[in-house]
Amino acid sequence: MIKRIQVVGAGGRVGSVVSARLAERGVLVDEEEPELVLLCVPDRAIAEVARGIDSDPWVAHVSGATPLATLDPHRRRFAMHPLQSFSKARGPEQLDGAWAAVTSETDEARAVGFWLAETLGLYPFALADERRASYHAGAAVASNYLVTLRHAAGSLLETAGAPPEALDPLMRGVIDNGFELTGPIARGDWKTVERHLAAIRAERPELEELYLVLAESTAALAGRELPRDTVSQVASSGSPTVCGTIQDLRAALEGRRSGSVGLVPTMGSLHEGHLSLLRAARYECDTVVMSLFVNPAQFADPADLGRYPRNDERDIALAGEIGVDLVFAPSAEEMYPDGFQTWVDVIELGSSLEGEFRPGHFRGVATIVLKLLSIARPTRVYFGQKDAQQVEVIRRMIRDLALDVELRVLPTIRDPDGLALSSRNALLSAEERQRALALSRALATRDPVAARNLLAESNGLFVDYVEIADFDPPVLAGAVRVGDTRLIDNVPLEGDET
Ligand code: AMP
Repeated sequence: MIKRIQVVGAGGRVGSVVSARLAERGVLVDEEEPELVLLCVPDRAIAEVARGIDSDPWVAHVSGATPLATLDPHRRRFAMHPLQSFSKARGPEQLDGAWAAVTSETDEARAVGFWLAETLGLYPFALADERRASYHAGAAVASNYLVTLRHAAGSLLETAGAPPEALDPLMRGVIDNGFELTGPIARGDWKTVERHLAAIRAERPELEELYLVLAESTAALAGRELPRDTVSQVASSGSPTVCGTIQDLRAALEGRRSGSVGLVPTMGSLHEGHLSLLRAARYECDTVVMSLFVNPAQFADPADLGRYPRNDERDIALAGEIGVDLVFAPSAEEMYPDGFQTWVDVIELGSSLEGEFRPGHFRGVATIVLKLLSIARPTRVYFGQKDAQQVEVIRRMIRDLALDVELRVLPTIRDPDGLALSSRNALLSAEERQRALALSRALATRDPVAARNLLAESNGLFVDYVEIADFDPPVLAGAVRVGDTRLIDNVPLEGDET
């Protein structure tokens, strides 16, 4: 049909592929006096290049978004947009099997456009000029946004320690299987969708909106509707409800008892250690309660209690970011009303190690934890391995009193230099913090004698104890004083946890 074609922009992504294919098919490229000038130039350059063509050949562009009028003043014109994402690293085979949208105003132009597409190895179809915005939006969603989806999905795999490239065969499989919808939304498994949302909120909150929008569209595709609960559970998680009284917390929990409840007891001044517990609870439970209470009963020394760092406003905001539903922040009077005289004492476990240096400490801990359990009645309660003896005391209490709660213990979170995170670290000067590092380094030997020797060599550290404790798992535990601040740490002696 046409023998001589000039490709303008033959060095570009589309231009190079098109030129190579035309050459393969014996069509002369870059001829003098071309019958067709094909503009493979950036969209913004099309109008100017078209205006610069003096003779009267066919003029066409290969843009998906650009209207035909951009080729003015030429009348023998059309557009042929290959629906493919081209890479310069590959050749004309990229055209094989792809489709092409041909926009034309006359039958003749349409015939030339279809001929060109077929000559290139494309399947042509007609596209009305005034419809190209929706057409091009569709193309962008399918190609560009697929890249965005791969990035989003990849970052979620990364947070799980999984290789993002594992997604690629999965994504190809979905295409090869004809886009058959599988997965939780297709099944109407809203609990799983809620868990996804909770994990996203905790790990990659910036993806929450994207996930929700896609979940809603996917549900519609499956002929379902995303339950309002599923959406609101997350949407409402930006600001937790703060309850100051036992009665308020019980009332707030009343409507939530059909699902699981996770309780994370804290004394506030939240750091990544606390946040790891909150994230786990958010992931595992339908409702998450964080208690925020500096428990006077576990401080033997009033000066220590007075010094304890507090930052309720920031803590509530952080809890909100993770998706905590309820923050229980009672006053000391609420928890220890006048005449309070009932105490829980885990006698033996509570009197060794920390108990020896802080008499009454674990009595205060066990009592407040039992009271929190009795108020919140959680399915699961979350503690950090950082306070290994505390975990052991609580485990014993749960067993001894047959409490109906699952104890979840999460690994110690440390700064990159090994220092275990603690609210008390805020009380250390820069120089004290440097000295405090000796504790985690000593415990990392997993050997009490070596650890004691290392600590003995450290200036300005007073060692209260370094002992192996027969907990579950056994740990090498230590406590030191740095200036006015007392720090504790431990390393499990079984497993590879630090
Ligand atoms: P606290 O506010 O110090 O009473 O701690 C509240 C909870 O956070 C307890 O279960 C602690 O064991 C836990 N926790 C404190 N520090 C860490 C840490 N560095 N890593 C993991 N959990 C921690």
